[in-house]
Amino acid sequence: MKQSAVLIPTLREVPADAEVKSHQLLLRAGFMRQNASGIYSFLPLGKRVLNNIEKIVREEMERAGSVEMLMPALQQAELWQESGRWYTYGPELMRMKDRHSREFALGATHEEVVTSLLRDEVKSYKRLPLNVYQIQTKFRDEKRPRFGLLRGREFVMKDAYSFHATAESLDDVYQKMYDAYGRIFERCGLNFRAVIADSGAMGGKDTHEFMVLSEIGEDTIAYSDTSSYAANVEMAPVVATYEKPSVQEGKLEKVATPEQKTIEEVAAFFNTEASQCIKSLLFKVDDRYALVLARGDHEVNDIKVKNYFEASTAELASPQEVKEVMNCEVGSLGPIHLPNTIEVVADHAVKAVANGIAGANEEGHHFTNVNPERDFNATYTDLRFIEVGDPSPDGEGTIKFAKGIEVGHVFKLGTRYSEAMGATFLDENGRSQPMIMGCYGIGVSRTVAAVAEQFNDENGLVWPKNVAPYHIHLIPVNMKNDDQKEVAEKLYETLLDKGYQVLMDDRQERPGVKFADSDLIGLPVRVTVGKLAAEGIVEVKVRETGESMDVSIDELQDKLA
Ligand code: ATP
Ligand code: MG
Ligand code: MG
Ligand code: MG
Repeated sequence: MKQSAVLIPTLREVPADAEVKSHQLLLRAGFMRQNASGIYSFLPLGKRVLNNIEKIVREEMERAGSVEMLMPALQQAELWQESGRWYTYGPELMRMKDRHSREFALGATHEEVVTSLLRDEVKSYKRLPLNVYQIQTKFRDEKRPRFGLLRGREFVMKDAYSFHATAESLDDVYQKMYDAYGRIFERCGLNFRAVIADSGAMGGKDTHEFMVLSEIGEDTIAYSDTSSYAANVEMAPVVATYEKPSVQEGKLEKVATPEQKTIEEVAAFFNTEASQCIKSLLFKVDDRYALVLARGDHEVNDIKVKNYFEASTAELASPQEVKEVMNCEVGSLGPIHLPNTIEVVADHAVKAVANGIAGANEEGHHFTNVNPERDFNATYTDLRFIEVGDPSPDGEGTIKFAKGIEVGHVFKLGTRYSEAMGATFLDENGRSQPMIMGCYGIGVSRTVAAVAEQFNDENGLVWPKNVAPYHIHLIPVNMKNDDQKEVAEKLYETLLDKGYQVLMDDRQERPGVKFADSDLIGLPVRVTVGKLAAEGIVEVKVRETGESMDVSIDELQDKLA
């Protein structure tokens, strides 16, 4: 493609509201533009990267036996009411009414739609298993869209759903999908880990997340270099004994949300970090107050114990101080669903503060095993820290921590949806059974950003070959020079004939601008047609290493192979 025909609005300055590298660089290199918060247009280069990732995903899905289809983004409320999620999904689900006042949701995910489809179309075990996928735009009204494509409100997802007559069949397909995910992210060039994940409220059993290792990841994973062990810290089992600190008897009671204050003000008062927090909550412990600054998109009335530990816990203050400084009402907000173990949890939080530990996500200090569904009945000694250097549960290594970006998630759903929605089949004995399900998601647009996050340097993006928008950036230094222009045009055609994807910078720009843009865009190989063009010599430069050499046009083919 000739660059003059492509909309690539590069920027020299770092856009003010872009906090992370991938967001900054995808904007600066002209791959995308924001329309509204969490909503983006993919410009031509961005669309090509998205296409490349989709292609990899399609190939691996087909290889794993998943078949593509496309379901509607606009979904009747009735389906979500049948599954119950209309009432539990919360404000992340975008809801709307049609002209007849019928309620709809914009698809945040498709369990309901696909389950209703299979319920109608599949009646016998003979038709199972079935595994379908789609690549489609999803809508989630994220409380805090951020980091560009990493957390959008409209984003591209690959979602697959499998249906089975037996648990063994689900195990088999789950493994195939798990393997396919590994291949997909490997082909994208990513440094990632598959980690044991938390099945949470879904109540499922096996679930794994695929985490791209990155400092800016919102998840923390515990892993070991010398063994295959890796888990989301939400799931990391107990590996060290925790010494019982002096027990704080007392109930933790939520008393107020000091929303009159900004997070920064609240944090400053409690002398703690506000950087990643979006919500502040006050808790009462006996007659003192603890502040929890929560990360993530948790509703005030839906606070679960787990979330406290994604939070920074600030120092306790006296009610007087709280009242004066926070200027907020101190009084109970009514029942909130906390397990019995909350006193212990509070105690942990207090101890963490006492030890000067800034929060649950700081390296080396993690609260674990405090997920409500699983740990309501946990006894005191079940709650422990795991720390760097602890033995990994398989005994073959020691624990380390890293931050991860969740790019994929595979999940054994079981019969959660099929039972709620009556998706049954007749088994070999003519008995009616609920279908057993699995679901498998990949954040395709998030993966674009994850690659950009892992592959960049001070000059711009550095795309791995398989996902790069083009293979070769062909740059005639001076388009007004007839030799250069002619050599470049000819080379362009030859390279296309050979099957390369080429972006030729045919603009009449200064060389400095062309090279800076080229570095920013980050195609794997640059071929510069300059002063030696008349002698049939061009320069080949590898973006990743910076290594460059002069080669004759005839030799070029070998160098590029
Ligand atoms: P997260 O924990 O980051 O909110 P999730 O667990 O809610 O993600 P899933 O429901 O598992 O997401 O969806 C499947 C995949 O879709 C995720 O693994 C992730 O890669 C991607 N995804 C989810 N939410 C977003 C978003 N707001 N923007 C971009 N990609 C997303
Ligand atoms: Mg989410
Ligand atoms: Mg998640
Ligand atoms: Mg997930």
